[in-house]
Amino acid sequence: EYLEQSGTEEVIRQFAVEGKLLDNQPYGNGHINDTHLLTFGTEQGREKRYILQRMNQNVFRRPKQLMENVVCVTEYLRDVITAQGGDPDRETLNVIRTLDGASFYEDENHDYWRMYLYVEGTLCLEKVENTKNFHDSGVAFGQFQRMLSDFPVEKLWETIPDFHNTPVRFRNFRKAVQEDRLGRAAGIEKEIQFVLSREKDVSVLTDLLGEGKLPLRVTHNDTKLNNVLFDRETGKVLCVIDLDTVMPGLSLYDFGDSIRFGASTGAEDERDLDKVRLDLELFEAFTRGYLEGCGGSLTEEEIAMLPMGARLMTLECGMRFLADYLEGDNYFKIHREGHNLDRARTQFKLVEDMENRWEELTAVVQKCKR
Ligand code: ADP
Ligand code: MG
Ligand code: MG
Repeated sequence: EYLEQSGTEEVIRQFAVEGKLLDNQPYGNGHINDTHLLTFGTEQGREKRYILQRMNQNVFRRPKQLMENVVCVTEYLRDVITAQGGDPDRETLNVIRTLDGASFYEDENHDYWRMYLYVEGTLCLEKVENTKNFHDSGVAFGQFQRMLSDFPVEKLWETIPDFHNTPVRFRNFRKAVQEDRLGRAAGIEKEIQFVLSREKDVSVLTDLLGEGKLPLRVTHNDTKLNNVLFDRETGKVLCVIDLDTVMPGLSLYDFGDSIRFGASTGAEDERDLDKVRLDLELFEAFTRGYLEGCGGSLTEEEIAMLPMGARLMTLECGMRFLADYLEGDNYFKIHREGHNLDRARTQFKLVEDMENRWEELTAVVQKCKR
């Protein structure tokens, strides 16, 4: 009966999995994809579990390219993990092929489905509760970066073009100001100026990339704690999951975005800006974890640019919120009047705080490097 309810029976039959389907349940707290946990029984009486996901095509417009990226990265990770004596079934996602050998199945409604090995014996933490959690997520994404440091990044599709191209985001922002479709610009002169006055900074990282001074890397682009699986027995980080936004990019994008949302003392939409600062202890915890995980795979230039990564990712995010406010809140869902303006303001407050404490940030990075 549960099979009929979920309507996934036909889908599941397409995948090359042995044994009999014993159970099929909705799983996890993901907000993007529909996730199911499947249990199969083998003839020897053993049970084996899998994750089945219907991919969210509203969010991911290029599912074929997306899955090519996921396959490419996870196959590479398998080899690295095997070579370093790890367990490739547990330390990376593993794509289960369809009977045709494809990495996904497209059903008659044009929904895309994919299957992974379920990573057994793990814990998934929904949000950062303490400094250690944040440090550990740094270790996880640092290790991810290290294992992929020799990956041939030209093999990856840019599934969301210009995702962290800050100069392009800046141009889009300026266009939104110029068009001012809802006449909202007049009320937010200060915020607009905050962005416009930083024009020369927005291209710092992309320029260094263009000049070959920063390497193009594999970026994860969704570095939340709930995309890390912890080993239930050791308590250590085990596996980075949710590879939908894996793309070519800078290591500083993952680092910077993690700091942006994880090291603020306030919520992303806090209205009382006195509550919003960069928490230096959290900044240090993540930096320490990230550098530990990267284990020497970052260049000196990348390490030196970590604070700039945090600052630019925060500025970029702020200008996206503000552009969306000016354009009528089409992209980021709002739950109250002026929600995107509030969000933009917290980001700018963070940027300002980072700028005021630049020496401290630099000193922390130097300290964690050793
Ligand atoms: P979303 O994009 O919706 O966040 P995720 O791929 O992160 O989707 O999956 C949602 C949740 O399902 C994860 O947070 C995790 O708890 C669980 N999960 C996903 N894949 C696996 C896996 N291979 N093994 C164990 N748990 C998984
Ligand atoms: Mg997720
Ligand atoms: Mg996701």
